[in-house]
Amino acid sequence: MSSEAMDETMKFDSIVIGGGPAGLACAIRLSRMGMKVLLAERRHLPQEKCCGEFLHPTAVRELEALLGKTPAGQPIDRVRISALDISREFDLSTPAMAVERRALSKALIEAATRTGVQISENMEADILRADPNRFEIRIGTNSAHSERLILAEGASAAMTNKIKVAKPVSRVVYGFSARMEAVFDRKVALAAVSGGYAGLCDLGGNCVNIAGLLLPAAYRRLAPNQPGFGARLLAEIPVWAKIVQPDLIATKFQAPVCADEIRGDALPNGAFVVGDCGGMSETAFGDGIARAFVHARILDEVLHLHSGNSKNVAREYVRRIKNSLHRPNRFLLRLAGELLRSPILARTSLRVAGSWIHSMVRRATEPAGVPS
Ligand SMILES: Cc1cc2nc3c(=O)[nH]c(=O)nc-3n(C[C@H](O)[C@H](O)[C@H](O)COP(=O)(O)OP(=O)(O)OC[C@H]3O[C@@H](n4cnc5c(N)ncnc54)[C@H](O)[C@@H]3O)c2cc1C
Repeated sequence: MSSEAMDETMKFDSIVIGGGPAGLACAIRLSRMGMKVLLAERRHLPQEKCCGEFLHPTAVRELEALLGKTPAGQPIDRVRISALDISREFDLSTPAMAVERRALSKALIEAATRTGVQISENMEADILRADPNRFEIRIGTNSAHSERLILAEGASAAMTNKIKVAKPVSRVVYGFSARMEAVFDRKVALAAVSGGYAGLCDLGGNCVNIAGLLLPAAYRRLAPNQPGFGARLLAEIPVWAKIVQPDLIATKFQAPVCADEIRGDALPNGAFVVGDCGGMSETAFGDGIARAFVHARILDEVLHLHSGNSKNVAREYVRRIKNSLHRPNRFLLRLAGELLRSPILARTSLRVAGSWIHSMVRRATEPAGVPS
């Protein structure tokens, strides 16, 4: 192939960095708009990520709007909240789902492939040049060019930090997840540990996913990937004794950087940030996937509205994300996150403010902003 021909094959309308829910959803939408789209993912696909595997009702609706169906999964209609020796159960405002990350990723990849997205897996991407509407991206040993760049690289946000006005990182949390055998009928659970929290989600068929987010000191104390983790966790959540095995060890773990929300208008024209790299805190536990899909849909809407790469698109995108109806849920989840990090506070709240917590759970699980 001549170098000119090679250059032509590496010219795209849009390049997406990251093959998680945010990147794949964007790639599908941009490709459906008639664009030539390249998606680069540094790991293998389907993605297998440390996750609670809970799909918030907003995520379920967004997925239906995107794919016309949801991948097979388990309906979830109740949440159990626990702290030390007490638990309370509440119903969700709308049923949610538990969908394995691998199945979710597969469904998104199939849709992306069908619409003509070119997917490069096991390919680390790096930004070589980021001028307005002209991006040069190194993908493996090749370089590719595009008018649009979609940053969907998850919480580590290295590329995003490379081209935005840098802000100091506010907090680092560690995530873990594992599967275990248990019956936990159509439920999701959250329990307080000191300096973090853990969750259970019924995947159906006697299989429960356990996941958690921990501040560094709690991660060192509980050591999820070391023998005896189950027993150490049970010492902090004794009410889970009948569900969690003492010899449990987490199989997946990660240290996401909780970047502050980025100022999208500081990016060069044509660059957009979607999903966790747009600013993630541990409140993404439970609604991070929903937020990723919301970002992809909003990007689609503003590109349709302004049909181009003008400054208006970036401004409108950031404005709509900030006003997105899904945001109040994140506020409530943040509050819940603060309460859950302290078992004594969480236990007192469960004892004295059960009905307030119930209404908070219902509001936090209302699907928001998805066009019907
Ligand atoms: C312990 C834990 C539990 C969670 N539980 C839930 C839950 O139950 N429900 C929920 O909705 N959310 C949950 N979340 C949050 C959820 O996982 C994220 O919000 C979601 O994955 C964000 O999607 P994303 O596409 O933005 O990022 P990611 O899913 O992280 O995808 C980013 C992708 O980009 C790739 N990448 C990064 N850099 C490059 C590069 N330079 N080149 C190429 N590829 C690159 C990465 O390999 C990765 O595959 C949880 C998070 C944690 C840590």
